[in-house]
Amino acid sequence: MSALTELYQSIRNCQKCEISKTRTHAVPGEGAEDAEIMFIGEAPGWHEDQQGRPFVGSAGQFLDQLLASIKLKREQVYITNVIKTRPPENRDPLPQEIINCRPWLDRQLEIIKPKMIVTLGRYSMALFLPGKSISQIHSTAIKKDGVLYFAMYHPAAALHQMSLRSVIQADMLKIPALLAGLNKIPEVEKESHQLNLF
Ligand code: URA
Repeated sequence: MSALTELYQSIRNCQKCEISKTRTHAVPGEGAEDAEIMFIGEAPGWHEDQQGRPFVGSAGQFLDQLLASIKLKREQVYITNVIKTRPPENRDPLPQEIINCRPWLDRQLEIIKPKMIVTLGRYSMALFLPGKSISQIHSTAIKKDGVLYFAMYHPAAALHQMSLRSVIQADMLKIPALLAGLNKIPEVEKESHQLNLF
């Protein structure tokens, strides 16, 4: 059994949070075990809960289009969420749920070892780029410990606010060049050293 398959079984059996009682399916994540890019969203919604797969509703359709714009299929990347169970009524994830789910995400990062982590929305961004504001740092690549972090607006935001659609599309188009230039990008830690390469 692959390390990811084993991990998925543990996630499906997890009952650390109350919301495990109301889910149809846990949504561990999916994609290539050797993916170079990992996209991390917020939490499964209704469609994801029904199917046990991440980003399969309308935000997921937009994500598929965004991936196609950089000639990628979802099988070539890895897609997951900060929490693996749908919060009832699509409420925001609770701090304790994020804490409880964190070891699953850490294990996914350990197995996949992505070169680039793309955060989709503020919950995911807060885990990797704490204290930042999405309006300030989207489009900005930050390299820490050899990994490139890139914050994007959540694809669902474009469904509610049409003006964000072109911002998200433009940000996605930056990913291939950033990844290709990864080795030339210096490590940065401090806010003042953030890279805006475009
Ligand atoms: N929104 C997310 O953050 N994740 C999904 O899987 C679907 C919608």
